[in-house]
Amino acid sequence: MDHFLYRDGVLFAEDVPVSEIAASVGTPFYVYSAATFLRHFQLFDEALNWGPHLVCFAMKSNSNQAILKLLGDAGAGMDVVSGGEYQRARAAGVSGDRIVFSGIGKTEAEMRMAIEGGIRQFNVESEPEMRVLSSVAASMGVEVPITVRINPDVDAKTHEKISTGKKGDKFGIPISRAHEVYGLAASLPGLKVIGIDVHIGSQLTDLEPFRLAYQKVAELTEALRAEGHEIMRLDLGGGLGIPYVQSNIAPPSPVDYGKMVQETVGHLGCEIEIEPGRLISGNAGLMVSKVIYVKSGEDRNFLILDGAMNDLIRPAMYGAHHDIIPVVEPAPGTEKEPYDIVGPVCESGDTFAKGRDMVPMKPDDLVAFRSAGAYGAVMSSEYNSRPLIPEVLVHGDQFAVIRPRPTFDEMINRDTIPEWL
Ligand SMILES: *Cc1c(COP(=O)(O)O)cnc(C)c1O
Repeated sequence: MDHFLYRDGVLFAEDVPVSEIAASVGTPFYVYSAATFLRHFQLFDEALNWGPHLVCFAMKSNSNQAILKLLGDAGAGMDVVSGGEYQRARAAGVSGDRIVFSGIGKTEAEMRMAIEGGIRQFNVESEPEMRVLSSVAASMGVEVPITVRINPDVDAKTHEKISTGKKGDKFGIPISRAHEVYGLAASLPGLKVIGIDVHIGSQLTDLEPFRLAYQKVAELTEALRAEGHEIMRLDLGGGLGIPYVQSNIAPPSPVDYGKMVQETVGHLGCEIEIEPGRLISGNAGLMVSKVIYVKSGEDRNFLILDGAMNDLIRPAMYGAHHDIIPVVEPAPGTEKEPYDIVGPVCESGDTFAKGRDMVPMKPDDLVAFRSAGAYGAVMSSEYNSRPLIPEVLVHGDQFAVIRPRPTFDEMINRDTIPEWL
């Protein structure tokens, strides 16, 4: 559920007409609903209420300071994958004891930064990383809490670019080697083993791969405990998929997910962490864009928008689907026609949808891309020297620009020309 609904014939973000925001900030732009973000976070939080837990928002999906503050103030932890994300979380007021550090390529500098600033745990992904973290922590005279990310070798049955828990993926340590690697962790100075971490992929629309992975984690917990390791926290990753209305994709709810977690690992008495990104942020945002031209091709019509692949790269990068809807509600019974919906960037990949049925559109009409709150703004670029598009946050009947569109001068002046030119 989200807070983007038609009212009086126009699309609203909570209590604000999307057309009003467009008139104020110009197109294209991202707009987020604070109530939707909070609701999604709270659904997860409540779904795990059967035991001690922390929902750590995977902030790589949306790392705007206002969003982090909104979620952090509501009690969310953060899952970070870089020094920059760590700094963003801290700058938004999230304390170190609510930040977990994931990622396969943490550098010494990032480790030191997180240890100095405070960290809940490092999710270690390889033995070389474990050795480096050990020497960094030991040199600072501290012991840092770690989990080891296990690759459970399950097929997440999702897009290959977002599958992360199968043999051959670059993430984690094969579960068959867990005993050896936990043994190494116990022998190294500066490290305190506290748990197990797993994350098998993104946009999963079925609970079964999770269930298989978490059953393996439960077995491993008991086996490692029998060997004397203290396993008191399980980080179960993110990855629950989001619904797409137009393509009839309806994944399980956070409530079902929480029950399945309880069934698979609830008996172990561990503190549970999860790292949802997309499910919290995806349907909490739209990208709004304007039609520049309607072009009749030889065998199809093109809708040329002012938004492009540099603003929202998911369709080009993953073939991802976004529901695309007109901001002005079409009259009931209006016939639809197929359009290829494209941006102005000079790449054939700058195509959002092919043969998409839409009501007839004309220049200056506004369209909204649903499910654009995750992996949207954070993946945008200024390719073709198109300035980053603004982000807007709505709360009830108020809205605020939470990242302005840079001017052309600001964009250009980020470059510097050496003296000798
Ligand atoms: C990307 C990622 C997540 C979030 O995945 P979603 O599909 O957005 O929920 C969580 N944990 C790790 C380690 C990740 O890499």
